[in-house]
Amino acid sequence: MTSLPLISVDPDARGRRPAMPPRHLADLDLPGRQALVTELGEPAFRAKQVSNHYFGRLVRDPERMTDLPAATRERLAGTLLPTLLTPVRELACDDGATRKALWRLHDGSLVESVLMGYPDRVTVCISSQAGCGMACPFCATGQAGLTRNLSTAEIVDQAVYLAGVAASGAVVGSPPRLSHVVFMGMGEPLANYARVVAAIRRLVAPSPEGLGLSQRHITVSTVGLVPAIRRLASEDLSVTLALSLHAPDDELRDELVPVNQRWKVSEVLDAAWDYAATTGRRVSIEYAMIKDVNDQPWRADLLGRLLAGKLTHVNLIPLNPTPGSRWDASPKPVEREFVRRLRDAGVSTTVRDTRGREIDGACGQLAAAEDTDSDPRAATA
Ligand code: SAH
Repeated sequence: MTSLPLISVDPDARGRRPAMPPRHLADLDLPGRQALVTELGEPAFRAKQVSNHYFGRLVRDPERMTDLPAATRERLAGTLLPTLLTPVRELACDDGATRKALWRLHDGSLVESVLMGYPDRVTVCISSQAGCGMACPFCATGQAGLTRNLSTAEIVDQAVYLAGVAASGAVVGSPPRLSHVVFMGMGEPLANYARVVAAIRRLVAPSPEGLGLSQRHITVSTVGLVPAIRRLASEDLSVTLALSLHAPDDELRDELVPVNQRWKVSEVLDAAWDYAATTGRRVSIEYAMIKDVNDQPWRADLLGRLLAGKLTHVNLIPLNPTPGSRWDASPKPVEREFVRRLRDAGVSTTVRDTRGREIDGACGQLAAAEDTDSDPRAATA
């Protein structure tokens, strides 16, 4: 059994000062940006102009901000739009419909985001932390531990940057406008609560204050930090909650999602149902199908009994095996039987498509590969 992860410890509070990035306009609401611009000795309305370039037009190059006086463009953009994300690698697959970006942050940390185009929508999957402290043994990000929380703007900028990629027409066969955001990249969003909630507020605020996305099109995925789920329900937001359950029984979930040692299956499901009742939003239950680990018919039946009659939907995720892991994805017939049993119990269930698998989509593997490449010890091992 894995030991209890340090779930309540924010790295900012550990005495070590994490290298947080420079302040960016996406860290602030509009009045905050106006105050900053005024401190620079510029008229307050410049904050709205720069915000409109960034969120409305998806422009970050000061040269293109021709409504600003040439003399102050660089200074305004330098103060409000410092570079937070430097692309290290961009990979595409599925004929360009899936694109993965690996970013280097100002302190050298690596994080990734994925842009996925569908005929009717464009989704970005973003990271909320560099690394992750939740230690789920099947997840590549979980193996390396937590480096630090991302700032609000580092979170928002992933979506804004990739919204710009989508707007350039790069995602063939999809609408040009980013419509959906899922917090399913690296990190545990509810362990970086205040910055993630601030990021959601920027994503949903209408332009020029924010990106103008619909709350219903934002999904926060969590291992199940019960107090944070309850707190999220009390915000005036109705984003979709996804709960990474992965096992219906405490014995197995204690191992697969170690935070279960702190909050048990029954407690986390109670919090999920309260979230659904408060927000009116159907809760997604995420369940990675792991061969001979959590895919037995009796576990499908137990899961069906726990979920029957609730405002929920199950997303089965074929396990994406991580390098060196002893686990594999369930065979297709086993997966089909699992789906059949859940549906027989009256539980709405789908199997997640495995977009981006050739480019190690969405499970922390690209950043891990980059780390290995650049680590001289790994090269000689
Ligand atoms: N910390 C959040 C977000 C993590 S990533 C959470 O745990 O919900 C989003 C989803 O991908 C989670 O359900 C996570 O358990 C799942 N996941 C992680 N590694 C995976 C892998 N190797 N194969 C399949 N799903 C994986």
